[in-house]
Amino acid sequence: MDRTALVGKVFSREAKTPEIPEGKVSDYFGCLVFGPKAMEQYLGAETLQALRSCIDGGHTLDRQTADKVAAGMKKWAMERGVTHVTHWFQPLTEGTAEKHDALITPDGHGGVIEVFDGSMLAQQEPDASSFPSGGLRATFEARGYTAWDPTSPVFILDDTLCIPTVFIAYTGEALDYKTPFKRSIKAVSDAALPICRLFDENVNKVFTFLGWEQEYFLVDESLYSARTDLILTGRTLFGHSSSKDQQLDDHYFAAIPTRAAAFMRELEVEAFRLGIPLKTRHNEVAPAQFELAPVYGEANLSNDQNQILMNLMHKIAHRKGFAVLLHEKPYAGVNGSGKHNNWSLGTDRGTNLLSPGKDPKGNLQFITFFVNILAAVGKHNALLKASIASAGNAHRLGASEAPPAIVSAFPGRTMKEVLEKLLELPSGTPIEIAGKTGRNLTGLVELPEIFLDNTDRNRTSPFAFTGNRFEYRAVGSSANCAGALTVLNAAVAEQLTEFKQSLDEELSKGKSLEEAAMDALKPLISYILDTVCFEGNGYSEEWIKEARKRGLDTETCVPKMFLSFTSKESQELFEKTGVFSLRELEARNEVKWETYTKKIQIEARLMERMALNHILPAAIEYKTRLLKVLELSREVHGSLRSCEAEKDILSELDSCISTIHSKCERLGEARKKADTKTDCYERAIAYYEIAESLPALRAPIDRLEELVDDKLWPLPKYRELFLIN
Ligand code: ADP
Ligand code: MG
Repeated sequence: MDRTALVGKVFSREAKTPEIPEGKVSDYFGCLVFGPKAMEQYLGAETLQALRSCIDGGHTLDRQTADKVAAGMKKWAMERGVTHVTHWFQPLTEGTAEKHDALITPDGHGGVIEVFDGSMLAQQEPDASSFPSGGLRATFEARGYTAWDPTSPVFILDDTLCIPTVFIAYTGEALDYKTPFKRSIKAVSDAALPICRLFDENVNKVFTFLGWEQEYFLVDESLYSARTDLILTGRTLFGHSSSKDQQLDDHYFAAIPTRAAAFMRELEVEAFRLGIPLKTRHNEVAPAQFELAPVYGEANLSNDQNQILMNLMHKIAHRKGFAVLLHEKPYAGVNGSGKHNNWSLGTDRGTNLLSPGKDPKGNLQFITFFVNILAAVGKHNALLKASIASAGNAHRLGASEAPPAIVSAFPGRTMKEVLEKLLELPSGTPIEIAGKTGRNLTGLVELPEIFLDNTDRNRTSPFAFTGNRFEYRAVGSSANCAGALTVLNAAVAEQLTEFKQSLDEELSKGKSLEEAAMDALKPLISYILDTVCFEGNGYSEEWIKEARKRGLDTETCVPKMFLSFTSKESQELFEKTGVFSLRELEARNEVKWETYTKKIQIEARLMERMALNHILPAAIEYKTRLLKVLELSREVHGSLRSCEAEKDILSELDSCISTIHSKCERLGEARKKADTKTDCYERAIAYYEIAESLPALRAPIDRLEELVDDKLWPLPKYRELFLIN
């Protein structure tokens, strides 16, 4: 393969302008979604009402309504060229699943008719026995079903009507991400509601909101196709750093390269059609790295949209001659990619529970939620870390790059001062909005009306308060946000329920709400200030020691982190909130260990193959050339006079070649040994050790890249992979 010809191709590519639909975005936004507008148009008033009450009340559709909804949907879809239908779900793989069925049914006269009824909408039994289930679906009972989640609207992808569904075993156990996520959203609402009602009796529902920020890399497709490691593992297993990468911060927020911009525009058009409100696009820190973010929305829907979008990104990148990399660490030595999850709670009365209120009572409500959320994060910090851990995210965890391998929270300077002041002042002291009272400031707690000071955000904190929401920054770029948020929601739900009990106790002593709430909050405020709240550098060595003293989890081994899912506290948490049964937890851990093992196994295998089949032949070829030089020198000069440099290079080549060879052999042995372990946890631990040993094989290969003639090097180099014109 001629690497240089490939690089030339990148330069000659043109950025073709995408076909942008005529008219304004608002004209075509959501046109491929069976949302409120389409529902109104295609469903009768009665059907619409029945469907709405299912959506709002969370109950299932009866068959009659389902048939009517399906009829309307069929008409809408067929008018838009739909020929197929699929239940679209989120199994425990990274990604979504779909199995398309044509709408046709034989009409008995040699022809076909299009059929789509309530039964096809509401429930299906996909032959999906190959999805990871952690033993929840032993093959003899390999049955699971998918059921429509009416809170997430049906949409059209190409010629297919996609119905967002949950994926459940017949025994009721969840086999996907969506089911427990929905349970956790309900748990938070149920737990928050009685507290909200003390502040506003008209509140009926509490929503969880999510606004994700998706980071990604673009790489030219021809270079990508020459990097087997990118294709098979999503990351480069080798590659010497480029002399220039992100040192100058000149890519960050810079003018978007033309081809990347063309990709973004096409992606946005498709996303808008699917009702995904993409808002922000920009260059990120690392070369060829970018970010996009939508306007936040209800968490279940927003997460579905993220899943749809990740698929769209791959598809459109391909159309534009790119590959998109969603791996958490595609390139060593430059920033990796995360997916910040901006998370908040709000009521059906339009109150954001993470913003100061309109009056002291509203402010107290804000403080109540703020403190309880941080208490939940503190109590379950190890579990939260486990929820974002994966083989890919392990490259970010603890590697001096957000997130550190310790889950702490950053309240911000203002909020920290408010909390400290609240501890000092008598309970019941009104919490005022700054500047709104004419009173003397002493003996008063003040909150800013809006937190403008976003500049003191601590970028090293995995969980930071950013003015009207928490920004959970530890989530991996390829992850399903539901994995992390299910745990966060459950932890917050449990904490709110406990808090309500202590609040009720205080109230039963005849105290006012203001006094009782603050008396119940004070111990929590002390707890969070002493444990989870951390303002300093999350990457420092001192923080690891300090965190240990504070009782925060500092584990860095990913397979070990997963053990927190089945700890006593976690079992209680998930049981109380109804989010996971013990059987589900155990099954999921099995899947997590298996996935971890397989990912490292693939990387290790491929590293050996590429080292032996790609790298060593190039090095040996170069070695041969140098040996020929020496031979010639001896022939011509009768000595190796003036061949000192060649001899030096040769000896370094030799040492790299033999190190690589012996390390490959040892790696193969370690793999074989790891594969003999029958327990999935032990196998994952053995593969963790293998993962830890991979950099030592990479180092001599990256050194060879520096030594060997550029023309002989078989793999596109970092400086080339970073090329986006
Ligand atoms: P930054 O990079 O400064 O953190 P971005 O604009 O890239 O900010 O992303 C912020 C994300 O947070 C957006 O998706 C935005 O919609 C979301 N967001 C804003 N307010 C809230 C909120 N109250 N709850 C949840 N998400 C929010
Ligand atoms: Mg952010």
